Amino acid sequence: MPKKDEVIAKLVALLNEKTKGQKPCSVCGVSQWRLQERFVSQPVSNNPNEIRLGGESMPLWPIVCGNCGNTVYLNLLVLGVKDLADVRIDPDEPAKS
Ligand SMILES: [Zn+2]
Repeated sequence: MPKKDEVIAKLVALLNEKTKGQKPCSVCGVSQWRLQERFVSQPVSNNPNEIRLGGESMPLWPIVCGNCGNTVYLNLLVLGVKDLADVRIDPDEPAKS
């Protein structure tokens, strides 16, 4: 399992490839993003009235504006992660926010 720093470096490289450099926050205009060292697995369903735990989900990487808290979720697969196992962070490493 890759180390946290390796995973973040890989994600930052993919992000820079897509954005060609840091972009300002759409809410406050400040460029002060906090890259999270953890992920969000958003459950998805064809039925809007249904909450299905343990079913299909969307793998997301949250980045948070350090000035206003605006939180953006990037889909890891669209970002360019080929195999989600490549970005699974060692659970023994503590996450920080
Ligand atoms: Zn902001």
